[in-house]
Order: sequence, then structure tokens, then C-alpha cells
Amino acid sequence: MLADYHLHTHNSDDSKVEMYEYAERAIQIGFDEFCYTDHKDYDVDGLNGIESDKYLIEYKKVLEKYSDKINIKLGAEFGMQIFNINKFENLFKSLPLDFVILSFHTVDKKMLWNKDFFEGRTQKEYNERYYQEIIDVTKIYKNYSVLGHLDLIRRYDTSYYPFEKIKDFIAEILKQIIKDGKGLEVNTSCFRYKIPDLTPSVDILKLYKDLGGEILTIGSDSHSVEHFGAKIFDVQKQLKELGFNHFYTFDKMQPIGHNLI
Ligand SMILES: [Zn+2]
Ligand SMILES: [Zn+2]
Repeated sequence: MLADYHLHTHNSDDSKVEMYEYAERAIQIGFDEFCYTDHKDYDVDGLNGIESDKYLIEYKKVLEKYSDKINIKLGAEFGMQIFNINKFENLFKSLPLDFVILSFHTVDKKMLWNKDFFEGRTQKEYNERYYQEIIDVTKIYKNYSVLGHLDLIRRYDTSYYPFEKIKDFIAEILKQIIKDGKGLEVNTSCFRYKIPDLTPSVDILKLYKDLGGEILTIGSDSHSVEHFGAKIFDVQKQLKELGFNHFYTFDKMQPIGHNLI
């Protein structure tokens, strides 16, 4: 079973892909399932992302044309900040979502990708602030399926902060998501970004397993068609080597386990 559970289309501000293009690509390269996970961010200048009505209409058109050949799910990537949880609760109610990735691209209204968030903070401070935000949100927000690219901070801060120094924060997050029946996303864009590790790191994945975590999804985080499905087969093998037995897909927010290769 091959499934790509992290895909951006033109409904995200940073992609131009038409929704049908992933369907054609997926069928062409023999995938069984995929899930659209377009962005929604609030309170970030210049970003709009999903407009519910338009997103749903386009999704239904693709389903009509391709659903006899491949399973296609509707998801979203929520770029949350603790002060705008209510807006996401409303968005969640407005769409029949199968799957939600909960991600943290912006903290304290400062984006990670342009390193604004790092300005004026020591490495210890910005690492602890980033993970503390995730601790605080996951304590109160529950309408999601997996945490997206949990150690995203390592994509933009390549002088990696040692795992041992932040382990207690990460353990607290992992215990919370396991208790809540949520999972982690393994984001194969780590290969595109040339991060010398998986995302999240092997250390995080091992800790998740030791704490009893089982729910894992795998997604390419594609913003262009040629990245669809990238490294998903390889990552399945790596997860098996780490001692996991299953990866998951979702239907109407319910996890479904599948044997790893
Ligand atoms: Zn993301
Ligand atoms: Zn994404």
C-alpha cells in the first residue's frame, strides 16, 4: 500500500498545482491513495490558503473523475498559533475533512521559514518557545489527526540543537498526543531539504515508539507534481527498521492501519 498524505495545490498560496494533476500522477506511478492537505494560516501577512466552499467543490470534481481508480481524501494543514484556535475550530466545522495535519510554521506571529522567529532569542530560547507552543496547543486543541513535521525548526536552523537538551519538551508533546489518540507525520521533504535525518528525527521517532506511539502517516509535502510520492517507499522501509509495523491513512478523521513494506 502506497499513500501520500501531505500535498499542496493552488489552494495553498505557495503552490500552483491543479488538484487533478496529483490524481493523474498518483495513478501513473501506482499509488493506492492520497490526501490533499492544503494550507490554512490565520494572522500571517499575505497568506490566505483554503477557502472552504471552493476547496470542496474542486475536490468533488476530482473525486467524480478519478475515484474509481484511486482513493482520494480531503485534508488540510492547519498552521496554528495558540491565540487563533477558535478560527480553526470554525474552519474544521465547515469542511468534511478526513484528515488534519496540525503544524506550527509561525509562533508569536513570527515565521520560522524567514528566521524572524529566531531573531533576538538564543538557540535554547527559540527551541524551548517553539516546543512550548506545541505543548500548550495540544493540551487544548483536539480536532486534528497528526502533528506535521514536528521538528520543523531544524529545517531552518541547521546548527542543530541537541536532542537531549529538548527531550523533556518533546516527551511531553508525545505523551499528550498518544493519550489523545493522535499521531505523528513523517515528512519526506527532509530529503529535498537535505536534512541529514528524518523529519521528525530518528531520535523523536524512537522516543515516540518507546512511549507507545503507533500512529504514523507519511507525506511528501509536495508543492509541485514531480515531488508527489517522493521517498515514501524508502521511508516505509526505514520505519520498519525502527520497529514500527504500521503506517496509517484516515477516513472521516478515523485512523486506518496498513502493514509497512
Ligand atoms: Zn508545513
Ligand atoms: Zn505542508
